[in-house]
Amino acid sequence: MKKIIILGGGFAGVEAAIKLSRHRNEVVLISDRDYLFMYPVSIWVPTGKKKFDDLKISLKTLANKHGFEVKLEKVVRIDSEQNKVITLNQEHSYDYLILALGMSKLKAKGLEHTHSICGKPDEALVIKEELAKIVARGSGRIAIGFGGNPKDPTATGVRGGPAFELLFNFSHFLKQKGLRDKVQLIFVAPMKDPGRRMGEKPYQKLDLFFKRYRVEKQIGKKITGFAKGKVLFEDQTELQADLIVYIPAGDGHPVIQNSPSIPVTEAGFVKINELCRVDGIQNMYAIGDIAAITGPTWAAKQGHIAEVMADTAAYNIQNEINFKGKRKSYWEHLNIICVMDSGDGAAFIKRTRTSELIVPLPIIGHWLKKGWGFYYKNSKLKRIPRIPGM
Ligand SMILES: Cc1cc2nc3c(=O)[nH]c(=O)nc-3n(C[C@H](O)[C@H](O)[C@H](O)COP(=O)(O)OP(=O)(O)OC[C@H]3O[C@@H](n4cnc5c(N)ncnc54)[C@H](O)[C@@H]3O)c2cc1C
Repeated sequence: MKKIIILGGGFAGVEAAIKLSRHRNEVVLISDRDYLFMYPVSIWVPTGKKKFDDLKISLKTLANKHGFEVKLEKVVRIDSEQNKVITLNQEHSYDYLILALGMSKLKAKGLEHTHSICGKPDEALVIKEELAKIVARGSGRIAIGFGGNPKDPTATGVRGGPAFELLFNFSHFLKQKGLRDKVQLIFVAPMKDPGRRMGEKPYQKLDLFFKRYRVEKQIGKKITGFAKGKVLFEDQTELQADLIVYIPAGDGHPVIQNSPSIPVTEAGFVKINELCRVDGIQNMYAIGDIAAITGPTWAAKQGHIAEVMADTAAYNIQNEINFKGKRKSYWEHLNIICVMDSGDGAAFIKRTRTSELIVPLPIIGHWLKKGWGFYYKNSKLKRIPRIPGM
């Protein structure tokens, strides 16, 4: 029996653990959080449409349902020559290792004056409190935006999506409170064409959303940092705001920075091949946000790609253990799929190598995305059957 250690209990790590537990393996998942956090639906925590605790799935419960082991420990370093994982508590030996620790965020000056919906899960609750203060005051200005990583565009990717979703959801929420005329919403981003990675057609339609939800734009100017209540730009101008929500681009994970034998790109993401195997290390795989995605220039780090990579890595490891020659590649599954929610509807966006699609889904789109949250949680907990391919 082979011992497979999976580092990280997000979409990528959990999917790999589920798939590998179906075979005769000893599967151990190590995470510093005792729950999987459903990031895509966290956009509704600030407006009170979802309770924070509903977005958590207990790793212990998942482990019991699927037959893997969970250890709650913080990983510090990996020694790939000795096949060892070093945590704050102890060392663990493995036959195969899967890296699924997610990514960290690019540093920016004064980031502590901002909040991010893509950082620590409970930041969503802080944004909720700050929004409530503005509602109680009856007026204010909110700036929401995202940054780019010039060294790796996939680490910006659809992280723009949550920024757009927050803006449109806040607009809908403030309208319901009768405050839409009293609270200004401003979108900030350093690039000239934020959102273009979703595809030309969706990008062109984005403006209609900005008009409909009355969101102003301040884009195409480098953001040099933040101060209390201020976004600072390279031309020495500044934007005052009562609440700043900023999603920095992704950066390599600190555990990988501490593990010099693991090959990384210039941006700090783990180099892998199409099988999700780490370059030059036969028994190590990297999946999800921690890995450097190679593919079309618009490819992006997304939850469903993390699951595709998990399935790919699990299949390839299992076939190697069973001396079977067949292997899977994640490359052919690279696409962007996103249901961009606005609180009262959504737009379905899909980009593949050959097509681009945007379908506005008033009202029903919002319920579709809510339905996905319900389906994901309950199917993983085996309360409802899985739909093949989802
Ligand atoms: C607000 C938001 C909205 C999104 N919307 C969508 C969407 O609509 N569609 C979509 O496809 N994608 C969406 N995404 C992207 C998607 O959520 C990510 O791509 C996905 O979460 C990546 O999964 P992961 O398992 O690689 O990393 P993560 O989910 O970040 O999981 C990393 C895991 O590693 C653990 N960990 C980290 N460091 C350590 C350590 N040192 N020791 C032990 N454990 C550690 C963490 O606790 C966590 O369990 C969204 C993301 C955000 C933030």
